[in-house]
Amino acid sequence: GGPRVAFIGLGTMGRPMARRLLAGGCDLAVFDTAPAAMRPLLDAGARAAASPADAARRADFVITMLPDGRRVLEATTGPTGALSGAPPGSVLIDMSTVDPATSRAVAFEAEREGVRMLDAPVSGSSAGAVDGSLTIMVGGSAEVLDRSRRLLSLLGGKIVHCGATGMGTTVKLANQVMAGISMVAVAEGFRLSQALGVDLRLLHEVTTSSSGDSWPLRTRPPVPGVLAAGPADHDFEPGFRSDLMRKDLELALSAAVDAGLDLPLTSAARHLYARLGPAGLGHKDFSAVISVLPRRIDG
Ligand code: NAD
Repeated sequence: GGPRVAFIGLGTMGRPMARRLLAGGCDLAVFDTAPAAMRPLLDAGARAAASPADAARRADFVITMLPDGRRVLEATTGPTGALSGAPPGSVLIDMSTVDPATSRAVAFEAEREGVRMLDAPVSGSSAGAVDGSLTIMVGGSAEVLDRSRRLLSLLGGKIVHCGATGMGTTVKLANQVMAGISMVAVAEGFRLSQALGVDLRLLHEVTTSSSGDSWPLRTRPPVPGVLAAGPADHDFEPGFRSDLMRKDLELALSAAVDAGLDLPLTSAARHLYARLGPAGLGHKDFSAVISVLPRRIDG
């Protein structure tokens, strides 16, 4: 049979990724703190584990796809974490978006148990997880990546070795900085155009073939009636949640502080995304950021 894989974290991303591994012939054990999240995988033939350690017990590979670094640390290095079950020689692949310091801390604990670790965050959203077209940014040893490449190719079309442990995570955070700021830029362009009476479908048509083009503009123009498949036409259902974007920009800013850098637009964008949670929009797509752009008092 195929490799034995433990998959921990079956949310928006993890569920379709785990499905692809099953379809690709992996022998899959799954764990999620929300039992309902495991159900569809169990129906498809995966084994239910009682903890991350239990899932990892006989694994060749352990994959984590969790919301944040705190959850990754808990699910890997905690008392019932994957590292207390994973056999020596197995490979732990964290595909969550975390901070580089967390990636290095997990790798350090893994090595002490004889487990090799890769940080391998992804870009491509849930659609990319469903069709296996994620971009995977990998930090860690090239030799361990080579051993993992067949498995990762079930999940992603582009798998790039970015350097030592933590470098996959670092490249992912740089990507989030670009995407997060670009979305605010798109929102400001739409707001301005809307206020001045521009036809917003026309605006979209012109700018997607002009120098203002970007991935957020192409995939999620932030007003309804412009792109039928976009989040704005579906009550801003994600897509990529605004609270995850806020988290990613916070991670980027803390990595910047460690590097002695100031990132002024990242700071400004972070403040805007942080307004969506209190407005009840934290679980909406990040294109909802248009709704928290400030108005002039006299405007
Ligand atoms: P999600 O919140 O939908 O899923 C996370 C899952 O982890 C949930 O099912 C939750 O119950 C489970 N979980 C939480 N704590 C756990 C624990 N201690 N042990 C086991 N399971 C636990 O999140 P998501 O959208 O799937 O994102 C996962 C990661 O991938 C995040 O770091 C996110 O930033 C990143 N990411 C998301 C997208 C996207 O489009 N959603 C794209 C790229 C990267």
